[in-house]
Amino acid sequence: MSRLPIRPSKRDLPTSSSSSSENGQDFAPAQKKIRKDPEPVKPHAAATIIGGRRNPVAATRAPISRPVRGVGAATVAVGPSRGVLKQSIASTAAKGGNVKQTAAPTCPKTGGVGGPKRQAWDLKGKFSDMEGKVRNYQTKVKATNQENEALKETMVQSQSRVVEMEKTLARQKSQISEYEAELQALSGVRDELEMVSSDKSTLEKELSNLESKHKVMETVRDSQEIELQTLKKTLARLQVTVRDQEEEVCSLKDTVVQQKDELHAGEMDRRRLHNDIQELKGNIRVFCRVRPLVEGGLSKHIQLAASDNKTITLAKTEESHTGKTADTQKNYNFNFDRVFGPQSLQQEVFEEISLLVQSALDGYNVCCFAYGQTGSGKTYTMEGDECDESRGVIPRAVKQIFRAAEKLGAKGWEFTFTASFVEIYNETLQDLLYSGKARKGLEIRKSTNNEVTITNLTYERVCNEDQVLGLIMLANRNRSTAQTAQNDRSSRSHSVFQLDIEGVNVGRDVKCKSTLCLVDLAGSERMLKSQSQGERFKEMTAINGSLSNLGIVITALANKESHVPYRNSKLTYLLQGCLGGNSKTLMFVNIAPEPDSFGETLNSLRFASKVNDCVIGTANANRK
Ligand code: ADP
Ligand code: MG
Repeated sequence: MSRLPIRPSKRDLPTSSSSSSENGQDFAPAQKKIRKDPEPVKPHAAATIIGGRRNPVAATRAPISRPVRGVGAATVAVGPSRGVLKQSIASTAAKGGNVKQTAAPTCPKTGGVGGPKRQAWDLKGKFSDMEGKVRNYQTKVKATNQENEALKETMVQSQSRVVEMEKTLARQKSQISEYEAELQALSGVRDELEMVSSDKSTLEKELSNLESKHKVMETVRDSQEIELQTLKKTLARLQVTVRDQEEEVCSLKDTVVQQKDELHAGEMDRRRLHNDIQELKGNIRVFCRVRPLVEGGLSKHIQLAASDNKTITLAKTEESHTGKTADTQKNYNFNFDRVFGPQSLQQEVFEEISLLVQSALDGYNVCCFAYGQTGSGKTYTMEGDECDESRGVIPRAVKQIFRAAEKLGAKGWEFTFTASFVEIYNETLQDLLYSGKARKGLEIRKSTNNEVTITNLTYERVCNEDQVLGLIMLANRNRSTAQTAQNDRSSRSHSVFQLDIEGVNVGRDVKCKSTLCLVDLAGSERMLKSQSQGERFKEMTAINGSLSNLGIVITALANKESHVPYRNSKLTYLLQGCLGGNSKTLMFVNIAPEPDSFGETLNSLRFASKVNDCVIGTANANRK
């Protein structure tokens, strides 16, 4: 600080502390210049805006090569101006009033020219310093203005460029969306293409497969062609052979026809001869069968001839009444077509009957019945036991019939079979194939062509052996039901199994019809009159009546009487078709070997031999 009195004057330079106001006055022109044109700040904003916009433009245009270059140029142009702007902003801010802050970089304390610090009194020096500073600022302002102008120009250019670029951007955006659409379309095409190419590869594989198959087939075809050629040659040879053979076949066919005729004639001859043999054997035949003793063997009073199997002798030792003479032995001799001893088997017995069964298929009525006292073996002979070896006449006959019918089928015969099973008890008929309550209204009827049928009776069509065996079992069940109701009824009733046989040979126009009748008669034993009363007496009368009438009928037939009393009993009425001249009859007389059956045995043998003596008229087959 100076000790000199200092007058305040216009030219007095302020102290450094008050320099700010003076500076403010000194800088006024410059400030005014700047204030006059506040625009210089705007370019900053414009530049900032440009700078701000540049990024998105650059970002959006990055992938597109050409436009990027253009933008790059713009950025370069704007870049340097930014630095200038910063300077101008700084300077403008300084001029804006905050001298303390801004004076530091632009106005050094030394007076701006870097000289030594002026003395307080060196006002002139200070003034010149100030002038220098003013000039500096003016130069700077000028430069800044110029820069501003340049920036304005640049900004205008940039704006037009921006507009241009926006247009370009819009164009490119639309192009991009076009490209995107195109791309989308192309991706669809690509998918299609992928599918097509996968299809193609599949097809190629298939094709190669087919090609390899084709090759194999070609090979096969080649070999087959060769084979075909060979076969053609063979065929030609064979055709010649076939022609020869056809001629041969024709002649053979003629021979076959001829031989069929001969066969048929042979078959008819066989039937006739078979029948002749049966007739020679007798149209009514009687077989005697002796039941074994329960303990086995045979009683002494029954003797069978060792020489043949046709004689049976019943011996009875009669004690002397006076006691003076020796006991006398009385022999009763009987001859039958065949006598079967106690050891005879069911099979042996059937062999003798099988010829008659054949006659039934040939169209002759056949009747086979078992006569004898109760317990003599009638049921055993006719039905037998269930086991194969001891089966009786009925199941064996049925088996033979179906087998023979099958064989005759090969010769053009067709058979139909109808079975029925009836019981005659107390002169009433019972249907054994009907399981319900006893049927009423069973009556024997004789048609105009002499066929005997029973009204309301079950006639079951059968096709095989098993069906018939089933019916026989059913009949036995029904019979045993009746038996429990009436004790021992089966021995006091006749059971009649009938199989109606109808045969047709369509080719030869021949038919035959016959009945096979198998009868298990009621026990022939007679009863003491004193023992038979009431129901028992009625039964006895019925049995005796029908059996004795059977004898009478046979005798009448033997004597060729004009009237045969068939109608006298249900049994003979039912069997009349099988007992007449048109039939073959076989009677078993079954005898029990026990000594106490002697009387009944003698009676049975007498009855049987009476039948045996009958000669029934020559039978005619029921042929049309
Ligand atoms: P019928 O029917 O005459 O009353 P069966 O046939 O019932 O007599 O015979 C009486 C018994 O004698 C039965 O047990 C039967 O098995 C037996 N029998 C009959 N004949 C013979 C035979 N030839 N061999 C063995 N057993 C027989
Ligand atoms: Mg019996």
